[in-house]
Amino acid sequence: MRRLSFGFGQTAKKGSVNMIKIEQLTIHYHQTCALKELSLAINEHESVAVIGPSGCGKSTLLLAIAGLIKPSQGHISINQAQVCKPRASTGVILQEYGLMPWKTVQQNVALGLQIRHCPKQQIKQQVQAILEQLHIAEYADRYPIQLSGGQQQRVAIARALAIEPDLLLMDEPFSALDTIVREELQQVVLGLYRVRRMAMLIVTHNIEEAVFLGKRIIIMQPNPGRIKTVIDNPYFGSEDLRSQLAYHEMCMKLRSELERVEHD
Ligand code: ADP
Ligand code: MG
Repeated sequence: MRRLSFGFGQTAKKGSVNMIKIEQLTIHYHQTCALKELSLAINEHESVAVIGPSGCGKSTLLLAIAGLIKPSQGHISINQAQVCKPRASTGVILQEYGLMPWKTVQQNVALGLQIRHCPKQQIKQQVQAILEQLHIAEYADRYPIQLSGGQQQRVAIARALAIEPDLLLMDEPFSALDTIVREELQQVVLGLYRVRRMAMLIVTHNIEEAVFLGKRIIIMQPNPGRIKTVIDNPYFGSEDLRSQLAYHEMCMKLRSELERVEHD
């Protein structure tokens, strides 16, 4: 595995604490080896983007960290506790928004809190607060089918964040959305990340998204799925990132790294 740093120093802060530790993670689906001996550490309040060609094991990695699939070999721990089932304070947003079509927006957002047996009054308050934060309070009584793709994805973000996660996992959350809505929601996620002080891992196949939302960018390669390169992204978090030349240079560098993966 190579480690690159473009222009600036390492981004991991001195004294920062490893929150997630993945050691020698191997995952098989029958004959397919989706991940092979993958090791990775993610710090508290760190934002990591995972990118790579289709089939390189990105979703498998995310689902394993979420506790939704079990390692064939190796270990994953979060805050020193082995992950063997979904964790109460991990928020997950998957590609298909995963909203219950028969529940209203506020019922969907309340789901995670109900599963965690929060008191009714607390659920009501927390749901209202997050709906307002994401500017979807006016849709509280609508059903998902009555919303646009971007609005539905805001509901999915609200649902994941209502539980006040210390870790937010996202698997290609914005891939179905057009560019403007996608960039708007990337900004929303960045804003929430700043305020909430959570760790974040986003799986994407979009170069701009990886540079915008990943302080560290993990490039994976397939057959079997593993880490090819890790890039430190010093431009992460900057307010007007997209208007900076350095951002576009970073995107180009990431693109050429990805082309190398495709041709290996
Ligand atoms: P990515 O998200 O990077 O596209 P995945 O993690 O979905 O990759 O898949 C990694 C590999 O595992 C691929 O070869 C894929 O075909 C295989 N795979 C994923 N899910 C399953 C499954 N449920 N059953 C069998 N093979 C699977
Ligand atoms: Mg995937």
